Amino acid sequence: MTFSLAGKTFVVMGVANKRSIAWGIARSLHDAGARLVFTYAGERLESSVRELADSLEAEGTLVLPCDVTSDEDIAACFAQIKETAGTIHGVAHCIAFAKTEELKGEYLNTTRDGFLLAHNISSYSLTAVAKEARSLMTEGGSIVTLTYLGGERAIKNYNVMGVAKASLDASVRYLAADLGKDGIRVNSISAGPIRTLSAKVIGEFNTILKNIEDNAPLRRTTTPEEVGDTAVFLFSNMSRGITGENIHVDSGYHIL
Ligand code: NAD
Repeated sequence: MTFSLAGKTFVVMGVANKRSIAWGIARSLHDAGARLVFTYAGERLESSVRELADSLEAEGTLVLPCDVTSDEDIAACFAQIKETAGTIHGVAHCIAFAKTEELKGEYLNTTRDGFLLAHNISSYSLTAVAKEARSLMTEGGSIVTLTYLGGERAIKNYNVMGVAKASLDASVRYLAADLGKDGIRVNSISAGPIRTLSAKVIGEFNTILKNIEDNAPLRRTTTPEEVGDTAVFLFSNMSRGITGENIHVDSGYHIL
């Protein structure tokens, strides 16, 4: 039983900048001794992700493009990982997107296009990624995705993203059921609100943060480091009996 991930390789998908929760997970994985593969969406992000990856000064770190709306991109990315890194031991899926105008006002106004876009990027991508990652997890593995309370409850302004998170949460259970026989576990972390690039576009985000500070049992907002350390637990053999589970890392807010 150990938290050490030395000699193991993890794919971290969804670093955009130093505020990204994926970057918090990457740092915790790095501290646990893991080798990292970063994937990013679109050329625009390449330099910032490379810069962050380089700052770890770790040997063998890979940085690869992967737009999860493209099956070809996902297949090419994991083929490249297989060729360069060989076996992998886990994937951190930290990816979501919805149209800014649909993250405020009434959920009722969600367009078909916006609904499909949010579900494609924020939910289906986990299934598409798990399918490609499976063949690289020859020693078993652990897949961790990030969800939010808005998938369990109707939270103001979260709207279509909440519906996509509910779909993602169900996917975690179905994927866990499929992949358990291969020794692959699938779990989610429900993070409390954290000020990141994606979160900033959610209507009245400052009010949401203030509410957590005032009312959550721990009376403080969640940090990417707290999420990162829980991810390391889910990636390590300390959590070997857990799959299909959702762990709230939200200062206890979900119990209220
Ligand atoms: P972020 O903006 O730093 O990360 C979102 C990432 O999704 C970005 O790196 C972006 O490039 C990536 N992405 C978007 N479209 C993509 C595509 N087509 N292909 C590949 N990648 C794509 O924001 P974050 O808050 O760190 O978000 C990470 C995850 O955490 C998301 O799933 C988000 O819903 C979840 N989450 C965030 C919070 C919060 O308050 N910040 C709370 C709970 C859950």
